[in-house]
Amino acid sequence: MATYDYDLFVIGAGSGGVRAARIAATHGAKVAVAEEYRYGGTCVIRGCVPKKLFVYAGRFRDEFEDAEGFGWELGEATFDWSKLVAAKDKEIARLERIYKANLERAGVTTFPTRAVIEDKHTIRLVNENRTVTAKTILIATGGKPNVDDKLPGIEHVITSNEAFHLKELPKRIVVVGGGYIAVEFAGIFHNLGVDTTLLYRGEKILRGFDEDMRDGLMEEYTRRWLKVLCGRVFTRIDKTPAGLVGELSDGSKIETDAIMFAIGRSPNTKGLGLEKAGIEQGWDGHIVVDAASRTNVDNIYAVGDVTDRVQLTPVAIREGHAFADSVFGGKPWTVSHDLIPTAVFSTPEIGTIGLAEHEARERCAKLDIYKARFRPMKGTISGREERTVMKLLVDGDSGKVVGCHILGPDAGEIVQMAAIAMRMGATKADFDATMALHPSAAEELVTMRDKWVPPAKTA
Ligand code: FAD
Ligand code: NDP
Repeated sequence: MATYDYDLFVIGAGSGGVRAARIAATHGAKVAVAEEYRYGGTCVIRGCVPKKLFVYAGRFRDEFEDAEGFGWELGEATFDWSKLVAAKDKEIARLERIYKANLERAGVTTFPTRAVIEDKHTIRLVNENRTVTAKTILIATGGKPNVDDKLPGIEHVITSNEAFHLKELPKRIVVVGGGYIAVEFAGIFHNLGVDTTLLYRGEKILRGFDEDMRDGLMEEYTRRWLKVLCGRVFTRIDKTPAGLVGELSDGSKIETDAIMFAIGRSPNTKGLGLEKAGIEQGWDGHIVVDAASRTNVDNIYAVGDVTDRVQLTPVAIREGHAFADSVFGGKPWTVSHDLIPTAVFSTPEIGTIGLAEHEARERCAKLDIYKARFRPMKGTISGREERTVMKLLVDGDSGKVVGCHILGPDAGEIVQMAAIAMRMGATKADFDATMALHPSAAEELVTMRDKWVPPAKTA
């Protein structure tokens, strides 16, 4: 029987790879992992975690404004970008050390190098210029930000990768895209005092989300003077002494100091040697896998953003965990990609789970809609005009709650809890039977009595 250096070799120490490596090692496997950049991957180093720290930084602006209504008198607030970046870097370095230490404590060998596949059992450690062999290979190389390579002047733009390390906070920025990253970063920059424009090619940001969430956030961003330009793209970008000048598809021009593209992410598969092992790839280079995360090559698996599933950290982690339990722990299970709660960390934020109204209308023969729109209690004496929007979508036949969407403070936190109930198949009657927690915003979810009726059409 063939012998190998490792039972499992993991390429990429991000969310999915780290979880898979650690769990496989605790099941007794001899495991190694290669990481070409920093342990922790996108989420920890240049994704969810530093992003959320920046979101917190920006939200102090609202807190300072609101405090006055509650009797506080604050002097003029000033903000130091370099101090924030340094504090963020320190925290990220701490987390990275923990990720590496946890791997090593589990008995995983770590290689700080790029790794590429030579054949179905052989991996090249690029920095060490040598190969190792493994019985099973897990590809967990994640993804990278897309830019529009054909756009003249594209060399002047940044992506989320660079946004985390800007030397100075620009005075003006244009953020391109209308998805999670663009919407979140436009909010961050705006809250930190940058003159921000969000430029989106479609009619309304956050395509695919529930319409009430999209409308509500557009309204709120506009109310906050964050400019949202829809139906337009850049046709060229020039660097001038006054800054960057972007020409738009409607013939107009924008002058700005920085342009950030956030137009989706592509799998990190270029130059990985997939063809040498005969691994099947999909339309944009992603790795094609089955429900068990297995590729068409029987000993090679892939999890996380490098596959064409859902690009979220908890999903990558769970896919890595299921893989390790199934292949090394004798406990096979697969990940359900239904009912994934998610948040857009805009200000106000969106928390969402289940079907959006347009999807529920297609899937449910009868759909009952419950909506609430109200001023959060804190806004009453702070004078903030912002409105919270809550929406429950209920299958009229079974009574099951099939969608829950919230726009407002702590929406993500609330939806995480609603997700448990929905996962258990909760009905609207179960929500109604639950005692309210008062005074809270979340109590609205268990006190919505009246079905929403569309406004009568005027002749
Ligand atoms: P990654 O975490 O990307 O890890 C892949 C690792 O592989 C990287 O460390 C990379 O350096 C390494 N690698 C690549 N190729 C090689 C090679 N050949 N050899 C060795 N190493 C290699 N998700 C959420 O759930 N919530 C959020 O709030 C959120 N915010 C985000 C904000 C931003 C700005 C971004 C960009 C993403 C965000 N995400 C968020 C998405 C989340 O970060 C990803 O879904 C998640 O990190 C995917 O994990 P992964 O293990 O598949 O890949
Ligand atoms: P998204 O897929 O969310 O959004 C991409 C956006 O870019 C869409 O608005 C899309 O428009 C637009 N777009 C695509 N191609 C072009 C183009 N050629 N020119 C102009 N606009 C274009 O990707 P993101 O980059 O925002 O984020 C990647 C993923 O990371 C997310 O899907 C999410 O899974 C994850 N993430 C999660 C977060 C969270 O959980 N809070 C936060 C950040 C990221 P259109 O809609 O018209 O196609």
